[in-house]
Amino acid sequence: RTVYVNGTYLPEDQATVSIFDRGFLMADGVYEVTSVLDGKLIDFEGHIIRLHRSLDELDMAAPCTDDALLEMHRELVRLNGIDQGMIYLQVTRGNPGDRSFVFPDDSVTPTIVAFTQNIPNLADAPAARTGFKVISIPDIRWGRRDIKTVQLLYPSMAKMMAKKAGVDDSWMVQDGVVTEGTSNNAYIVKGNRIITRHLSSDILHGITRAAVLRFAAEAQFEVEERPFTVAEAQAADEAFSTAASIFVMPVVEIDGAAVGSGKPGPVATRLRELYLDEMRKAAI
Ligand code: PLP
Repeated sequence: RTVYVNGTYLPEDQATVSIFDRGFLMADGVYEVTSVLDGKLIDFEGHIIRLHRSLDELDMAAPCTDDALLEMHRELVRLNGIDQGMIYLQVTRGNPGDRSFVFPDDSVTPTIVAFTQNIPNLADAPAARTGFKVISIPDIRWGRRDIKTVQLLYPSMAKMMAKKAGVDDSWMVQDGVVTEGTSNNAYIVKGNRIITRHLSSDILHGITRAAVLRFAAEAQFEVEERPFTVAEAQAADEAFSTAASIFVMPVVEIDGAAVGSGKPGPVATRLRELYLDEMRKAAI
């Protein structure tokens, strides 16, 4: 694989970052994951807007222009011959040359790394045909989940809890209501109504979420942004998750209880098709 580090494209085994990088020592960094279909970037603009928001919230400077980021993403796709897959972009506060809790001054420039992940069947993932089974677990993450930081230890633990339980993912619960999945936003369907938690600092403001809610409204679904409980989700007609890496993923079981028929439902299936069709058309 050819990867990108601070302005240079090089083989992955030659790419290095300092041990003093604040991303490594403090998880002081943010990231974005953009999917690639037909060799093109899906909703790149949405990811760039959110990247700026994450950087601003942490008082971190943008590492380069948006045009340069777009050019770099396209170059990585080209160099690695990606038809379907993902591009991971990470920006950390850089290398102050020592360890300190204090942010370094502006002379320390951000560290920017990016790499591709080749996933030939991303759009046609087998999991989308069977759906995800999930367990619910307590949400004990920090209070600024709207910032897409690289602080992903609890989501990793949540994924391991799911794995140990023999399921695909965990949905996290705080104050009796679902926040989101380990790396996705969570939804339920009741009749013609799509229900998903409202935006706040309790959840990541999903780029896929924004697009899916727009397509849902255009397709005459009712959209209700409010929290829901696990019991309400288990009793719903359907459930699903969204993220750049899974698009719209039906959720067919929660804590051992089948949701609806226990198979991917018509609404999640339709929204997945709508999302893929529309986003493919708009890809750059
Ligand atoms: N929620 C969390 C905690 C995430 O980590 C992610 C994606 O990584 C999402 C939601 C979905 O966001 P997006 O649709 O922008 O990929």
